[in-house]
Amino acid sequence: MQARKEQLARLESEDSGKTITMARTVDIDRAIKNCRFFAGAVRHDRTDCHTMHDAINYTLRVPVGVALVITPWNLPLYLSSWACAAALAAGNCVILKPSELTPRTATVFGELLREAGCPPGVFQIVHGFGHRAGAPLVAHPDVPVVSFTGGTATGERIAALAAPGFKKLSLELGGKNATIVFDDADLDRAVDGALRSAFTNQGQVCLAGSRVLVQRGVYDEFVRRFVAGAAAIQVGDPALDTTRMGPVASAAHLDKIRSYLRLAETEGGVIACGGERPAGLPDHLRDGHFITPAVITGLAPTSRTSTEEIFGPVVVVHPFDADEEAVTIANNTRYGLAGSVWTSNLERAHRTCRRVHSGVLWVNCWLHRDLRTPFGGMKDSGVARMGGEHSLDFYSELKNVCIHLGSGPAPTPKELHVA
Ligand code: NDP
Repeated sequence: MQARKEQLARLESEDSGKTITMARTVDIDRAIKNCRFFAGAVRHDRTDCHTMHDAINYTLRVPVGVALVITPWNLPLYLSSWACAAALAAGNCVILKPSELTPRTATVFGELLREAGCPPGVFQIVHGFGHRAGAPLVAHPDVPVVSFTGGTATGERIAALAAPGFKKLSLELGGKNATIVFDDADLDRAVDGALRSAFTNQGQVCLAGSRVLVQRGVYDEFVRRFVAGAAAIQVGDPALDTTRMGPVASAAHLDKIRSYLRLAETEGGVIACGGERPAGLPDHLRDGHFITPAVITGLAPTSRTSTEEIFGPVVVVHPFDADEEAVTIANNTRYGLAGSVWTSNLERAHRTCRRVHSGVLWVNCWLHRDLRTPFGGMKDSGVARMGGEHSLDFYSELKNVCIHLGSGPAPTPKELHVA
């Protein structure tokens, strides 16, 4: 992967519209790290041992069998390799069903695994649309473990298909994540972090901070700087190193994003900037699905625009007064994936993080990841946690073996309670 990094980055950029810079420095870089990480993690794995006065228990980790991995189009190889590397490291065979919109880096990944000596059949790729190629695999009786990353509505369907087979299931689903900016935050850092969190990959990141909640005392200043920052983002040819935002993934997706901008206006929102086709696109890009980053103010925090996942470069900004109100607004969606808190008061940060219903929270940073930590969503953002030993546990069956150490007749059954 390292040797073919440039090819992988180009394919990812062409398939999805993400900038070549993002593909190089985030997607493919992280895909390589995922493989290195799980190759290391499995070698550093340990098993538990629980001793009794006359017996010893140890935990055995065994592979589950065939792991099915279904991944979306926004971070194709980044997410595929995250699941596949863990599943392979834990000793499973893997079937990968990438999104039909962005299939090419998965194909190269398969070729590389074969070149690296992966035995035939241990890693297989099934291409095809989800309902035709993915659904039958989810329901297949020989697939005991399913890792799905994608939309919440699709996740519901996958869960229903998997339920009769009592399969192990990981669902990494949608988000409507809050970026909470308190009045004691370093505003330069907060504006910069909120912009990156909102618009990285055209806002097509499950962890994107698509709602920004700003304390009243710094609201006007924050919005002024945030809107200026959004308007300055260079949208255009994803193949150029200077471009910060390329097109969104498809025509259908662009239509969805535009429909939310119309909805925002009917809900009383003010589009402070963006939501338009960028000017001056060269001829060869005229059919591209481009849209400039949009910032919306004036909406009720309970509005549909403010609570439903748009998954594009559209951000709503809300003021709040008391800390309590920020937590209430942050929790007022069906989602619970991620969020970030910007403040110089650690106690306030800790108190807020405990009360926001999200699986992943950052303080004064965003997307700063240690691959050992638990990653996953609460509420409708998903089921299960991945990362480090959480992933290895998910792709394993854990067995307990109890060996009696005494001689003579077998002991009468008993339970050890540790108070
Ligand atoms: P989808 O749910 O539409 O698709 C995800 C994957 O599922 C694709 O490979 C798709 O195939 C497949 N699929 C679709 N329908 C079925 C089905 N009935 N049975 C089996 N497989 C199916 O999501 P998107 O591709 O639109 O991705 C965007 C969503 O993913 C967003 O909601 C985003 O928040 C979420 N996401 C969550 C992440 C997390 O970690 N929580 C990370 C990244 C994204 P095909 O496309 O070929 O039809």
